[in-house]
Amino acid sequence: MPRPASEEAGGALLHWGYRPRMKAIMSGLAALIAGITGGADAQEVIEPAPASDPAPAVPPLVTRERMVAEQILRRGVGDSQVLAAMRKVPRDRFLPPDVKNLSYDDRAIPIGYGQTISQPYVVAFMTDALDLKPTDKVLEIGTGSGYQAAILAELVKEVYTIEIIEPLGTRAAGILSELGYKNVNTRIGDGYRGWNEAAPFDAIIVTCSPDAIPQPLIDQLAEGGRMIIPVGPQGEPQQLVLLRKSGGRIEQKKVLPVVFVPMTGEVEKR
Ligand code: SAH
Repeated sequence: MPRPASEEAGGALLHWGYRPRMKAIMSGLAALIAGITGGADAQEVIEPAPASDPAPAVPPLVTRERMVAEQILRRGVGDSQVLAAMRKVPRDRFLPPDVKNLSYDDRAIPIGYGQTISQPYVVAFMTDALDLKPTDKVLEIGTGSGYQAAILAELVKEVYTIEIIEPLGTRAAGILSELGYKNVNTRIGDGYRGWNEAAPFDAIIVTCSPDAIPQPLIDQLAEGGRMIIPVGPQGEPQQLVLLRKSGGRIEQKKVLPVVFVPMTGEVEKR
């Protein structure tokens, strides 16, 4: 069992902040040298990098390798398929421009509308807990940025994902389609009642926290199906609950304390 971590606070091993942009530094140096030598020719040849140059100092693939090694493997998630998906999916593409530099940090990151993209470790942990097979059909409640849906899409046949905040859902659908994910079905709406037309699901992942597990989601789990869901009152750490339907019975266990954004909509009236 990996050690506990939370979405917002716990579990942080490392924090990588801004990386100096080597290209900008080099061109700054070049400009300085040009200034010292003072030649008009030199000034024409050596141009400073444009301010909008987005080239990161470390290529995203290297950063993702590091994220997997230091944040995920080290904490005990070792499934090779899950790790491969975490290495492959460009997390930075799912983040708004103002927080892109934080893409691979060991923490949850704001994505607008008061919502967050989960910490990479929590994404890996939840995905791993679902014990997915390539033939599985999976439902996600809380599309958010679309990142978790992309990770799932790397591992299973079909993903269905529902987001209650329209601009977030629309943005995520756009990014998923730009990246070529054809096996992700997106919907704007309240996920409390699941996605009945597509049920039953081999696995359900809920990335927002209700006080209690919505019954329609339990009903939409296939025989042998698994669900991972944060449960508990807001303002306190919740418990990630792993649930399995077998022989018509529901077994459940608490697997990790976490902090997630609340599930909103119908669940609040119950
Ligand atoms: N899985 C997301 C994390 C999103 S945060 C990612 O990879 O980025 C949780 C999301 O759940 C938020 O976007 C929030 O708007 C959404 N949400 C909250 N209540 C919901 C509900 N009843 N139905 C669907 N989505 C909901």
